[in-house]
Amino acid sequence: MAWFKKARKPIASSTAEKPSRVPEGLWIKCPGCTQLIYKKDLDESLNVCPKCGHHFRISAAERLRAIFDDGRYTEHFPNLISLDPLQFTDTKPYRQRLQHTISSTGLKDAIIVATGTLDGLDVVVAAMEYSFIGGSMGVVVGEKIARGIERAIAGRLPLVIVCCSGGARMMEGALSLMQMAKVCAALARLDRAGLPFISVLTDPTTGGVTASFAMLGDLNVAEPKALIGFAGPRVIEQTIRQTLPEGFQRSEFLLEKGMLDLIVDRREMKSAIAGALRFMGAKTEVLVAAPDVAAVAAEPAPQA
Ligand SMILES: [Zn+2]
Repeated sequence: MAWFKKARKPIASSTAEKPSRVPEGLWIKCPGCTQLIYKKDLDESLNVCPKCGHHFRISAAERLRAIFDDGRYTEHFPNLISLDPLQFTDTKPYRQRLQHTISSTGLKDAIIVATGTLDGLDVVVAAMEYSFIGGSMGVVVGEKIARGIERAIAGRLPLVIVCCSGGARMMEGALSLMQMAKVCAALARLDRAGLPFISVLTDPTTGGVTASFAMLGDLNVAEPKALIGFAGPRVIEQTIRQTLPEGFQRSEFLLEKGMLDLIVDRREMKSAIAGALRFMGAKTEVLVAAPDVAAVAAEPAPQA
């Protein structure tokens, strides 16, 4: 019999910190360097930690504002909505999940397709939204990307897709898998039209998105330390019964293995995309100055 005995359990210290950022509040703890960052500083550096360069996840709208000149863009096909073709139910009916997500995110599905200028170049940009059912690709995401590509072909514009997705949308079954083929076919048409496509892979890009358009860019650019893969590391480890190497499925590892072309810091991403597009032949539209036109018109007509 011990003399001193702890009757009560000690207060457990919460060592398991959540990696997600807290949107409210003035200070945010960086999961990369565990330092506190002033929210305003974080906003100014495009949600990249000024101390260690950790890339926080950002929304599709924030992404588009960071890419387009003056943060201005025109959204296309915003009202496409999934009709729950399989009447799917998991922990709750898909239709209910959709309605809940639509009201919480203000988006109708997990992607925004927009046009605007990027460093003076006219472009079509599609950005995926992770907070909309894990950025999953269903019928609407596939359709919006395909329409975005058609718009790019019609207007002779380059295409940029910013991927951020958990893969195909389970609740739409085979229909969501068909989007992989559909988008790839549309990209093939873009390629035949001689227009460039830059794929920007952000954390995370997995599943059917990696297995289709994310890896089909004329240039595949990733953000640092982004998780990019098809199946998750745990599933692979269980299947092949081997311990996976350090940094497996992260951008740096994939770049080393030749799966990616470039890793670019988010703060440099816009200029990197603009530079690549110019290299591929995109040109800034030069408007014909009005006075010159007037001068030509004012010239006396040649005498016969
Ligand atoms: Zn940090």
